[in-house]
Amino acid sequence: MTAGLALHGVTAGYGGAPVLHDVTLDVPPGTLVALVGANGAGKTTLLRAASGLLPLRAGGVRLDGADLASVAVEDRARRGIAHVPEGRGVVVELSTDENLLLGALWAHRSAAARRAAVEDVYALLPSLDRRRSALGHQLSGGERQMLALGRALVARPRVLLLDEPSLGLAPQVVAQIMGLLRARCDDGLAVLLAEQNVAAALSVADRGVVLDLGRVVAARPAPDLAHDEALRHAYLGF
Ligand code: ATP
Repeated sequence: MTAGLALHGVTAGYGGAPVLHDVTLDVPPGTLVALVGANGAGKTTLLRAASGLLPLRAGGVRLDGADLASVAVEDRARRGIAHVPEGRGVVVELSTDENLLLGALWAHRSAAARRAAVEDVYALLPSLDRRRSALGHQLSGGERQMLALGRALVARPRVLLLDEPSLGLAPQVVAQIMGLLRARCDDGLAVLLAEQNVAAALSVADRGVVLDLGRVVAARPAPDLAHDEALRHAYLGF
């Protein structure tokens, strides 16, 4: 049995030709895998296939060895898979605290457990602690991204799927987010991080997986990928 998240032979798309072709990758507990590749390579599609938002045409997704084919999206979340899509998904009419409590709602039964889980997130993300009562639309882009991440963490997931958390953020905020992800991984979380900011993602990742036209063209330790100039030029544009 492979612990954590495992995709094997995944083929998926939106109608017409598939976007992903025969994708196999593992994200064991305590591991941060950076999923990189050009615009349109299929990173978002892969996260959607992993979380169950997009049906598979072939292949499978397993969590701790158990096949998820018949497990609905919301039940995958209950089993510990959290998906933070690009665009942040914060409820802008609600406060930071309300957004976090909403994230905790289905994951923790008692009000006291929900409060404790929210307080744990504030301890991890002090910038949110300072903005407890601010409404979503009053937050900066960086604060909203932190809140989206906090809302996923409040359910204490075992697997975190993250789409472009660095998009549009200042370098110091990006560094903060990457540092937080690394620390969560070191505590046992499995993270699959899709990023255009390849340098930032590889700087904290254990492994890097390069997608090109929906296929895995390289899967290696992150430092190897970061230093492979030919591969960077061919697929990553730097
Ligand atoms: P980006 O970084 O630009 O988001 P990506 O690597 O995440 O790129 P995807 O968004 O997964 O790539 O897109 C992969 C391919 O699937 C692209 O050709 C895209 O046009 C197509 N695609 C994405 N979403 C849809 C959709 N809802 N319907 C049809 N085609 C789609």
